Amino acid sequence: HKGVKVTNEQVYQLDREYVFHSWSTQGQLNPMVIAGAKGCKLWDYQGHEYLDFSSQLVNVNIGYQHPKVVEAIRAQASELVTIAPAMANRARGEAAKRIIAHAPKGFKKVFFANAGADSNENAIRMARVFTGRSKILSGYRSYHGNTGSAIVATGDPRRIPNEYATGHVHFFQPYLYRSEFHSETEEQECERALAHLRRVIELEGPEAIAGLLLETIPGTAGILMPPAGYLKGVQEICNEFGIVMILDEVMAGFGRTGEWFALDGFDVTPDLITFAKGVNAGYVPAGGVIISEKISDFFNDHYFPGGLTYSGHPLAMAAIVATIDAMEEEKVVENAAMIGQEVIAPQLADLQKKHAMIGEVRGKGVFWAVELVGDPDKQTPLDADTMVAIKAGLIDKGMLPFVAGNRIHIVPPCVVTAEEVHLGMDYIDQVLTKYAI
Ligand code: PLP
Repeated sequence: HKGVKVTNEQVYQLDREYVFHSWSTQGQLNPMVIAGAKGCKLWDYQGHEYLDFSSQLVNVNIGYQHPKVVEAIRAQASELVTIAPAMANRARGEAAKRIIAHAPKGFKKVFFANAGADSNENAIRMARVFTGRSKILSGYRSYHGNTGSAIVATGDPRRIPNEYATGHVHFFQPYLYRSEFHSETEEQECERALAHLRRVIELEGPEAIAGLLLETIPGTAGILMPPAGYLKGVQEICNEFGIVMILDEVMAGFGRTGEWFALDGFDVTPDLITFAKGVNAGYVPAGGVIISEKISDFFNDHYFPGGLTYSGHPLAMAAIVATIDAMEEEKVVENAAMIGQEVIAPQLADLQKKHAMIGEVRGKGVFWAVELVGDPDKQTPLDADTMVAIKAGLIDKGMLPFVAGNRIHIVPPCVVTAEEVHLGMDYIDQVLTKYAI
């Protein structure tokens, strides 16, 4: 566009005329125009800047336009821009090797997909082929993607207009603040959620259940930290009934929690791990399934009936290699852990003391939820109109927030600085003050 001045208005009109958007009624859209971004900042064509507290869809973990990742994509484009999945490709091998290096002990191979949904789709396929069973259990409080099985595995209401795949059964996960089990302590909630899961398995027939798919820390559903012992308990139940345990690390993985994988923070070893988003910060679409030895060995002499034209696309793979290397060299995961512990946690505790409308804060690393309530005693979720006003207020201040239901999720890139967090928290403080209950 050298020499040609692009305006917000032109880009907006172009979008509204030709682009069909996700999860929307097309006539009610008002997309934000973004011209460029760097680190944790974005801007439009008129020079308005935004501090990113969303990482877009919680995926730009390494921040925008990381020079090493951009350069790696450029270099791979010059070397070999595309190649079929059946070929052996250097970038693909290097990407898989690095992912395995960060996975728990005993994980052997990586199957590459294009994003989170098809990663879950293929993990479900592996579980079904491996067990010869068909049903898939997953949590009501979850999002697993929008393809055939992934959207039916999803627990949240985006599932309902999409229920074409069969054999999906849901259960309740622990969530003490809004307990389905009338629990008063984390221990009770954990014990009761595990007892409920066992009942669901008994009533669905263990011999019919292929896999159990669970976000290690449910993300969009509210960053619901599992109580100590829950994930281990789920693993024990899966082992007892020969059910393949799949942990979805699409949102929680690759630095978000201040660990390489969220499961590193718990005493749990699943059979399959799915990933996408943070693995290369979404610079080129990619996802995949990390496969344990048991399942990897099974497929040494059993056919795997699945594949994708762009599985392990070289541009995406080069971006993975460069992202993981840069995250190691620049201690990005350590930064996320430090920011969570030393900056976000204390600041949210202060905000909670000050604002009666903050019902609960929870999270770790750069993965936090602030739950807003209209009535602190009854814990009534804050009404939708006020949530819309709060979101608009934050954007108006110059922040890009992630708002889901009655919650603000604090999910900046993992490279965020303490100063940037202070600034964003100050915006939140000001806007909550304006809408105080
Ligand atoms: N799984 C989880 C936990 C997610 O948060 C998401 C997306 O938000 C997905 C799966 C689906 O990923 P994608 O949109 O890349 O298909």
